[in-house]
Amino acid sequence: MRIALFGDIHANLEALEAVLEDAATQEVTDYVCMGDVVGYNADPVACLEKVRAMECPTVKGNHDEDASGSHSLDAMNPVAASALEWTRQQLSDEQRQWLSRLRMVRQVTDFTVVHSTLDQPAHWNYVTNRFDAMSNFSYQFTQICFHGHTHVPRVYMKSDRVQEVPAEAVVIEAGAKYFINVGSVGQPRDGDWRACYAIYDLNHKMIVFRRVEYDIEKTQQKIIDAGLPQMLAERIAEGR
Ligand code: ZN
Repeated sequence: MRIALFGDIHANLEALEAVLEDAATQEVTDYVCMGDVVGYNADPVACLEKVRAMECPTVKGNHDEDASGSHSLDAMNPVAASALEWTRQQLSDEQRQWLSRLRMVRQVTDFTVVHSTLDQPAHWNYVTNRFDAMSNFSYQFTQICFHGHTHVPRVYMKSDRVQEVPAEAVVIEAGAKYFINVGSVGQPRDGDWRACYAIYDLNHKMIVFRRVEYDIEKTQQKIIDAGLPQMLAERIAEGR
């Protein structure tokens, strides 16, 4: 069994399609989505329908929640808020309902999935260091938990202590726990513009990260044509 873990797609259809094409070449048998299907970029409807048609376990991201609600976005940063207002207009009531019904936490085979953290999934906390990861581990009852939200691939490992290990190929050690950020498909923020996702090989107890090139100029043009903030087109090229 080889499971592709992908999330933070953020309405970037070219990146999503490239990831799914790549996964098809990697003998992937199943898919799990970390949420934030929409927001920021210009293809919320196509990305939502693509993920929905896959019928894979999918958890809710903060952008999914904000796009499906009608609450004020004033407290949010103005660029994200304007993209979410635009996204709300693109989605049908029924699509918004699908987003709003996504669950915050899922267990899939022997691992857990959450968009942000297990300690307070609805608070959308960002995990950027091992101290943030420690709070999560207190609530993690499976050996591995996958998440997203920061758009940066990261691996935290808890054995006698919690440490960050390089987000490269990870061999799961018996007795240790892992909290793994699978990076972002549609808006990576680790300085690498290529779409990011992970593959968990259950038989070999191994996780690898994949980076995939896609037609970024097409995505940028769609962002500009949609009248979304120009900065959103620039940042995907910078991987920030
Ligand atoms: Zn996100």
